[in-house]
Amino acid sequence: MMLVDTHAHIYLDQFKDDLDDVITRAREASVRNIIMPAIDLDSIRQALELCDRYEGLFVMAALHPSETRDAANADFDAVNDFCDNPRVVAVGETGLDYHWDRSFDERQRESLRRHARMAAEKDLPLVLHNREASEDLVSILREEKGRLQEPERLRGVFHCFGGTPDFASSVMDLGFHVGLGGTLTFKNGGVPDAIARIPMERIVLETDAPFLSPVPFRGKRNEPARVRLVAEKLAEVRQLPLEEVERITTGNAIKLFGLGE
Ligand SMILES: [Zn+2]
Ligand SMILES: [Zn+2]
Repeated sequence: MMLVDTHAHIYLDQFKDDLDDVITRAREASVRNIIMPAIDLDSIRQALELCDRYEGLFVMAALHPSETRDAANADFDAVNDFCDNPRVVAVGETGLDYHWDRSFDERQRESLRRHARMAAEKDLPLVLHNREASEDLVSILREEKGRLQEPERLRGVFHCFGGTPDFASSVMDLGFHVGLGGTLTFKNGGVPDAIARIPMERIVLETDAPFLSPVPFRGKRNEPARVRLVAEKLAEVRQLPLEEVERITTGNAIKLFGLGE
């Protein structure tokens, strides 16, 4: 059985000394694909370079919400052009981050709308980052879906999912998937309750490496091989055989992101 890590920043400096080993361990853990979300234009270039070095890697293109303060039209145009690269399988990660700095919320919202329109136009899934911004995310995506002739073209993943069961219901109503990672394994993280009503068909797995390592590696550098620990936890929470969790979540990822060989 195989797994997909749908969200790993393995182009970051944290991996520069031992990426060969990290990729080998991922393969040993039966991770067939790793999808690398962008932060800025440089990270898209770095991720595309890694696709030439290793098999089974794919890329997302976007400006991370924290990188939108000074973003120019030319930056969005560049993201748009990257979307035509066959290795680019999603627009992400975009979204809203209200945790750190509230001085450019409006820029973040505008960037989210631009990325949502790009994704619908290119017929690619949209991958969303969310910190303390669930309500705005849902209302903006509702509006953006409402603008479309074919609303189902606007689809994607709320990555590192967490929140209330009501928020989960809103995400389901929008037709989006949730990405589950290390926070599923955190004690008092509340994720098992939040996802109780989410059907397995709407779940994909991720690590968000190098961040959010699952238990028992919490606080250490995360890596794609540990997506297996997330799968094991989900099997426990849902009381399903591990093979079933792998089959369904991997199938979901392949279909949503259109992953070839
Ligand atoms: Zn994120
Ligand atoms: Zn991320």
